[in-house]
Amino acid sequence: MLQTNDIKKLLNIQDESITLTRIEKETVKGRLTNIVRGTITYTPKGCPKCGTINTQYRVIKYGSKLTKIVWNHVAGYPTRLYLKKQRFFCKSCKQTFSARSSEVEEHCFISRKVKQHIGFQSGEDLSKKYIAEDHTVSPTTVKRIISHFAQIYYPVYQSLPSCLLFDEFKSVKNVKGSMSFIYADGDTHEVIDILPDRRKAYLKLHFQKYPLKVRKQVKFVVIDMNAAYEFFIRELFPNAKMIIDRFHIVQLINRSLNRIRVKIMNNTTVLVTLLKGFIINSRITDACY
Ligand SMILES: [Zn+2]
Repeated sequence: MLQTNDIKKLLNIQDESITLTRIEKETVKGRLTNIVRGTITYTPKGCPKCGTINTQYRVIKYGSKLTKIVWNHVAGYPTRLYLKKQRFFCKSCKQTFSARSSEVEEHCFISRKVKQHIGFQSGEDLSKKYIAEDHTVSPTTVKRIISHFAQIYYPVYQSLPSCLLFDEFKSVKNVKGSMSFIYADGDTHEVIDILPDRRKAYLKLHFQKYPLKVRKQVKFVVIDMNAAYEFFIRELFPNAKMIIDRFHIVQLINRSLNRIRVKIMNNTTVLVTLLKGFIINSRITDACY
């Protein structure tokens, strides 16, 4: 018997309304393909067409419709989810609609996970044709998905908050610089962008993408104690005052105090050792006399 939950975990299906029924292999477009069959059904809260709330059986089940969804490869084989979607009928507006799943957008036959994977692969040195073959979709589909992601994530350099927060952190191994750079809105604490390099030349080029008029609106830039920031902040944000973040001041005081404490402790240890040695020597000398 098919262990639905295990297969769902394997396929990374998180929608609880989906139940898997069978797995088989079929040849699709000349390639041996994993076919995972399942159903999706639930009791809808209302009708998405007219907004009627589903009380007293206003929305009833009304047959099903098979959809073939492209899934990510499993064990080297292309995979398709053949999902029988529940159809519903609304007694108020006399219209029908299908069950919706978080795994796939409405009227779409490519799962969200395939789209996400194509999005990840678009950042690598791969051709559209290769990505299309890897997901058994057409190059046009790949182009459309990449354009969609680009529209969502393409940065807009048309506004900056009046207070900017700068900091650096160790991110991932494959970034250019040893440390990455992060800047955020000082009022809302929302991250504006994360850059792969914290070096002056890189940051200067990045912030120059904002027009001077926008940069002039920045009144405060909160930084750590990295002296290199000072030069380009004065140049790029002519109306901004620099503020050293109190966290970094407290951190510096703490580290300095610790250093002095360790130095004093070490000196005391040496002194005590010398004194002990002196006392022992004195006792030996006394015993000899
Ligand atoms: Zn309705």
